[in-house]
Amino acid sequence: MPTFKRRDMEEMEKAKDLLEADPNAELGFVKSLFFGRLKLDAVLPYPKQDPDEAKRTDELIVKVDAFLKEHVDADKIDVEERIPQHVIDGLGKLGVLGMTVPKEYGGGGFTHTAYCRVLERIASHCASTGVLVGAHQSIGLKALILMGNEQQKKTFLPDLAAGRKIAAFCLSEPEVGSDAANVQTMARLSDDGKHYILNGQKKFATNAALAGMMTVMAKTPVPDGKGGTKDKVTAFIVTPDLPGFEVVSPNRSKCGVRGTWQGTLRFNDMKVPADRVLGQVGKGLKVALAVLDYGRCTLSAGCAGGGKLALKMAVEHAKRRTQFSRTISEFHLIKKKIANMAEMTYAMESLTYMAAGLVDRKEKDMMLESAIAKLFCSEGLWTIADDLLQIWGGEGYMRQHGIERMLRDARINRIVEGATEVMTAFIALAGMKGVGEEFESVLRATKHPVQNFGRLASFAHSQWSDVVMGSGAAAGRNGQLHPELSELGQTLARLTTRIARSVHKLLRTYRQDILDMQLQQERIAWSVVEMYAMAAVISRLQAELTAKGGVNGNGHANGNGNGNGNGHSNGNGHSHGPVSDLQRDLIVGKGFCRRAARSIDQRLDALWDNDDTDTLKVADTLLGVTPSDE
Ligand SMILES: Cc1cc2nc3c(=O)[nH]c(=O)nc-3n(C[C@H](O)[C@H](O)[C@H](O)COP(=O)(O)OP(=O)(O)OC[C@H]3O[C@@H](n4cnc5c(N)ncnc54)[C@H](O)[C@@H]3O)c2cc1C
Repeated sequence: MPTFKRRDMEEMEKAKDLLEADPNAELGFVKSLFFGRLKLDAVLPYPKQDPDEAKRTDELIVKVDAFLKEHVDADKIDVEERIPQHVIDGLGKLGVLGMTVPKEYGGGGFTHTAYCRVLERIASHCASTGVLVGAHQSIGLKALILMGNEQQKKTFLPDLAAGRKIAAFCLSEPEVGSDAANVQTMARLSDDGKHYILNGQKKFATNAALAGMMTVMAKTPVPDGKGGTKDKVTAFIVTPDLPGFEVVSPNRSKCGVRGTWQGTLRFNDMKVPADRVLGQVGKGLKVALAVLDYGRCTLSAGCAGGGKLALKMAVEHAKRRTQFSRTISEFHLIKKKIANMAEMTYAMESLTYMAAGLVDRKEKDMMLESAIAKLFCSEGLWTIADDLLQIWGGEGYMRQHGIERMLRDARINRIVEGATEVMTAFIALAGMKGVGEEFESVLRATKHPVQNFGRLASFAHSQWSDVVMGSGAAAGRNGQLHPELSELGQTLARLTTRIARSVHKLLRTYRQDILDMQLQQERIAWSVVEMYAMAAVISRLQAELTAKGGVNGNGHANGNGNGNGNGHSNGNGHSHGPVSDLQRDLIVGKGFCRRAARSIDQRLDALWDNDDTDTLKVADTLLGVTPSDE
């Protein structure tokens, strides 16, 4: 029977902070899937922007589009590796940099949905500018809005909202990347209690060299309840005027989003006034995670915007380019790419605004939902950008069309704000932890693995009937959905039962070993990711059908609307001749769901029929790892 090494136990202790959700929060859609419950109520109706705000956002988008066209030269920004000050000033004047800041602090008081809609436009025009805005508003100043006290907000937000000052979020360090809890920067309270004295280094902090305000994570000793202290992460407001603040290097040249600047900072006995702690001392990791929830949603919006642009360019080129006496759009291998791009784009957009809706209705536990949106959209855009370049052939490879830049720019989304591998493992483990917890918790079992093996194994029995009978998934079959969508609802219900049974069987078979079995985690995670994407697509289609009275008595779509429930165009391209926007969306959305369902089934089959042992053996051979090292 495997035992846990001390290092593993420490990691699990850290994971507790990362995986722990608000105990009072109701189980969300995604966590419920792990229990075999299809909670359609959590995804229906599709979020809809308030009409007045939608109008305000539309007006802002017109101005933003005009500004981007006239003043933001994405190619020049890429080549010169800097975003000109006039771009930052212009975005500030338009109100973009303070969109989500409450009005009383000089911001626009917009919802997250509105912000995502604007960010889509900016990121698809110039990804570097999108990243600057996101680093400033989605993560740089977000902790101030969420956790700042009145004095802190009054002091810092007005300048940030107007763009007179730019914000940055500083978590990463030379030794701290994905392992966010391992922060090495230390903050010690001065003897007179007036300051925290910070020592350490930060790297990769976007906007840091331009910033007037930074949210900085550092560890402080806090009482451990046993008469000693424990170093825990705390969030601080840092400004560049503090003595001991040093910009070691303002930027490094890189693959994509080349106009953005990632600073390396050093804090040399830097004195931070004690009233600049953001939130509670020792609760910085929670601050960071809450902020990253927002960052992940807006990153998804940027990806969705990029997807729409790529799809449009792909369709135009495929219809224009002739080879072998035919337009390349006639070849099935090109059609397949266009279909994939359209389906992915529709699903990315559906997930983005589903997540934005959760933010706007202040959902307490949306960690998994925002992680899924981020993972799906970042991976989706990468595939889409690659398909676009392939459809354009050699021309796509030339700099002139901006496609190779799109590909380079898209790459970063798979690394920042939770790298793909980390998000994948996180989604599987956070979901499975929920199941384990109902039966005395996977987490507690891993803290006391030997004593808790029995509990883990018996977790099946109390809720098992729901899963065996599939009754938890009945919502997919009970007529809540429009007749056009009932087949998809039934598929989702079937998959919900299947994923829960699979999770149960995995936990029963592998017990605590599952914590290390990332290839199995990946199958569970991506199944859940695609199920949530299916749910978002179904919900959005339902909203479209409802809005347009979309079917005739025969159950066939007859609407001609283009709403997506957010009051804005879904941008899946252009005019499609005789096919209405609603019909097109039904074709695209259903296509996505059917393909996703097939791949989920294949993944779940592979849980019990795979080559994982061989794969790991090959890697271990190359890595020089012998089985005894495992
Ligand atoms: C352009 C850019 C902008 C950035 N902006 C900011 C910013 O504004 N603020 C900030 O604080 N940071 C920022 N970062 C840092 C960014 O958040 C990190 O790069 C990211 O978290 C990954 O950390 P890392 O680069 O150290 O990679 P590592 O953590 O070293 O990961 C390397 C590889 O190992 C994988 N890996 C790691 N752990 C696991 C695991 N448990 N299981 C499986 N695989 C694993 C990763 O997925 C990755 O593939 C930025 C980085 C870049 C490049």
